[in-house]
Amino acid sequence: MADPSGSCFVEDILIQDGIVQKTGLFTPPKNVLKINAGGLVCLPGLVDMHVHLREPGQTHKEDMVSGSRAAAAGGVTALLAMPNTIPPCDSPEAVRFVTRRGASLPVRVYQAAAASKGLAGEQLNDFSVLKAAGAIAVSDDGRPLPDAGIMKQALIHAKAAGLPFLSHCEDFSLSRGGLVNEGEISRILNVPGFGNDGEAVCVARDVAVAECNSLPVHICHVSTAESVNIIRSAKARGVSVTCETAPHYFTLTEDLLLSRDADYRMNPPLRTRRDMKAVLAAITDGTIDALATDHAPHSPAEKADFFSAPNGVIGLETLLAVSYTRLVKPGHITLWRLAELTSQAPSKILRLPFAGIKPGAPADFCLFDPDWEFTVEPEKSRSKSRNTPFKGMTFFGKVKYTICRGKVVFDSEHKF
Ligand SMILES: [Zn+2]
Repeated sequence: MADPSGSCFVEDILIQDGIVQKTGLFTPPKNVLKINAGGLVCLPGLVDMHVHLREPGQTHKEDMVSGSRAAAAGGVTALLAMPNTIPPCDSPEAVRFVTRRGASLPVRVYQAAAASKGLAGEQLNDFSVLKAAGAIAVSDDGRPLPDAGIMKQALIHAKAAGLPFLSHCEDFSLSRGGLVNEGEISRILNVPGFGNDGEAVCVARDVAVAECNSLPVHICHVSTAESVNIIRSAKARGVSVTCETAPHYFTLTEDLLLSRDADYRMNPPLRTRRDMKAVLAAITDGTIDALATDHAPHSPAEKADFFSAPNGVIGLETLLAVSYTRLVKPGHITLWRLAELTSQAPSKILRLPFAGIKPGAPADFCLFDPDWEFTVEPEKSRSKSRNTPFKGMTFFGKVKYTICRGKVVFDSEHKF
């Protein structure tokens, strides 16, 4: 077991009142619940900064309870819910609805408020009021702010309110509702394509607005080689830009779409092998700050027809295993870097406290078995939906226990 922030190895962890009391070798007190963690790796609880919980409005896909149970099953102890619910989370009342319910959920649920009224991209909300209600970020995720001038105002107001702005980068004049990546696959399927330019043009715009005005911006779900290059060079110039990618962008490629299975459709779409490698390289060299799932549940009925299905895939339960298998096992990154990508960096971007696993820190962590290989079986998901693009694939790194606020919120032996 290890603590990536303190770089120390610990043998035992004593938790009391939700707080880590002691680490190291010691005789545990009597009358405590003991977990045998032999052979398991302990990581700080994952912080997934991009999740769609679908509540209110679309609870047939997911709700806060099912979504947070899926999170716990994936080793995630904190998540950020995106505001594109029905109605959108664009008022203090809507933010309070989530924060009130958060306390009774197995993991910590935070809310991103909508940047614009009704997510329409026209009139900005009062970010300070939303922050006072409990929002910890602002975003119109699912859509870009369509106008660079509004984007500039949004970044100014977000900075003034002390909230990170999370940007969904898509230029609608280029993406044009494309179902898959633009190129060979879109031509074979004879469907509209969303090319790399549709993302990269908007990334370049947002980075330029941030750079020219010395404002921070966070870019969501980076999927293309060009986006990665723009962000890498911006960082080298000292621009205050951070970004995330999702496990499917460094694991899967567009050829899966030839199956005409909508479970492989998300926005932005799966790209080419060249893009996948670029994303992987950007994770390795530090250009990409964080891993997030963009967990986007849709019911099997909604996903049944390839052409009319909505975009989105679930990912909370596979975030750790896919990342461990794809990144750590082949030696692209270390376990410490994985903890940074999945916990420390997203906490920092969202301005949440991060204390690692040491005395005095909140007891939020997961224990996983690095040698346990398992097959992803959608029907066993804790999510209400089944739309995982990793179905049938095998991964190492099964989560055995998740502990949040000092309580066992997931135990692989006993279903929670
Ligand atoms: Zn998005």
